[in-house]
Amino acid sequence: TVFANNIYYAEIMRNLKRVFRLESFRKNQLEAILAAMEGRDVFVLMPTGGGKSLCYQLPAVCTGGSTKGVSVVISPLLSLMTNQVNALKEKNVDVLVWNSETVDHIEIMRRLRGHSKPRLLLKTAGHSNRYLKISMGRESLARFVVDEAHCISTWGHDFREAYQCLGLLRETYPNVPIMALTATANQVMVDDIRNRLKLKNCAFFTQSFNRKTKIIEDIINFINSKHRGETGIIYCLGRDKCERVADALRRKNMKAKHFHAQMSTSDKEQVLEEWQSDRIQVVVATVAFGMGIDKPNVRFVIHHDLPKSLDGYYQETGRAGRDQKPADCVLFYAYRDYKAIVRMINNPRNGDPKELASPEARKRQELQAKIVMEYCLNVSDCRRVQLLQFFGEKFDRRHCRQFCDNCSHSVDMIEQDLTNEAKDVIRLVQQFLSMNEQVTLDHCRAVFKGADTTAVRARNHNRMAQYGAGKHLDNELLEQLFKRLCFLEALDEISVQGNQGWYQYYLKQEKYLAEKRKSSSSTARKPASIYGS
Ligand code: ADP
Repeated sequence: TVFANNIYYAEIMRNLKRVFRLESFRKNQLEAILAAMEGRDVFVLMPTGGGKSLCYQLPAVCTGGSTKGVSVVISPLLSLMTNQVNALKEKNVDVLVWNSETVDHIEIMRRLRGHSKPRLLLKTAGHSNRYLKISMGRESLARFVVDEAHCISTWGHDFREAYQCLGLLRETYPNVPIMALTATANQVMVDDIRNRLKLKNCAFFTQSFNRKTKIIEDIINFINSKHRGETGIIYCLGRDKCERVADALRRKNMKAKHFHAQMSTSDKEQVLEEWQSDRIQVVVATVAFGMGIDKPNVRFVIHHDLPKSLDGYYQETGRAGRDQKPADCVLFYAYRDYKAIVRMINNPRNGDPKELASPEARKRQELQAKIVMEYCLNVSDCRRVQLLQFFGEKFDRRHCRQFCDNCSHSVDMIEQDLTNEAKDVIRLVQQFLSMNEQVTLDHCRAVFKGADTTAVRARNHNRMAQYGAGKHLDNELLEQLFKRLCFLEALDEISVQGNQGWYQYYLKQEKYLAEKRKSSSSTARKPASIYGS
């Protein structure tokens, strides 16, 4: 790789394997580690589970570069700390904890001043700062690591008073680099965190939140980090998709096979048998896979596409963890999946009209798909509450105990009023339509974000009034906003099959078109549209 020549590279790779027993880095980890070792301020924005800890734990165990001293890690919660300490001790990393439960402060100060200093010192914010100053000079500090850095921002949902004092770190220790890490921060918060911590010329690392393109990569990372060697099911919407996904997994050395209704009975039986006996790890299947399966140790069920109904989803996920041991269910969704389902409902395969359900049945199926989409878009209510409510049952959220994403991510959730931004998006789309400009949804989003790309400049879209109106939103929020506007049918994506057999997605804006029709009732217009492929 391009980094192989870096003077710290060899030590980093050695420790990755020896201490952390990992083979390779995930996106941005190596980059962040190198920047830290060069003594720079670093900002890491990575989704939960993305692997933030390694970004500061690995430099902490290295002795080259600016890493000679102790790495002081500040986190908001005692519970987060306990897990980390145990994991580090298991790896034989010398780590000390200093928090409100510490009894023997003298002993800790002795360790910090002495010759055999720990590699990492984990502490809560605010606590024992004064002692820290007495115990340690600049030369014995490698860096400060501010975990869950969004807690310092008053813009955040999880602002913590105790984090305020971290604004003093820079003044007290002007030459000690700072690394800030968080899973949630939009642009406003990133700037706020940077200002409050007084980060200088910091190296900034963020991951693309473009889900669909990296979904296979996400699935592989997820299985390998949380369920290495354990069996599971991946559900896909169509048989082609199953075959493609299974193939992609095999190319990454995972034992995976596809399963769908169009296979011969003997092929199906063979796959089932191999999976039941743990000879293959993953079955990539359509909903045809499920009847009569009673494998106890299914550790994960992943939905690569949106399920068609919530009760179907409930059944499919119910195949995980039958042995009563914990299992994970992950659902990937995109607004386009929803449109694809609606399209399938109304255009039966092979165009055979006999396959078309009655108008009432189609309405019902569409409604079911809509309920699933609503379930996906609801990122605040407990998943169990939502699912059981669908079946008319009640569930007390407190009993979820952070098992579902919405309960465990409450720290990460920020509620924001995006009414004005939504209005700007609509205005932008109307502007495109009135200019008879055809642009893709991605292009529309890029203009709204204020991206400086060749495509935007070539078409002079950087001169539009709404250019950059959404630049303060992070990519994930932008995606949510566009998804939601489509889902609410403020914008609509229409798919039309192009001559290459590809689908093109046209976006229209219903209200605008209706008004246009009114004002020019006699001149029939071809609806101007936004399309993408
Ligand atoms: P975060 O703090 O970003 O939520 P963690 O640091 O806890 O995420 O990492 C999540 C999981 O990913 C952990 O189980 C960790 O061991 C694993 N992990 C992190 N980096 C790698 C890597 N380079 N290769 C494989 N697994 C990794």
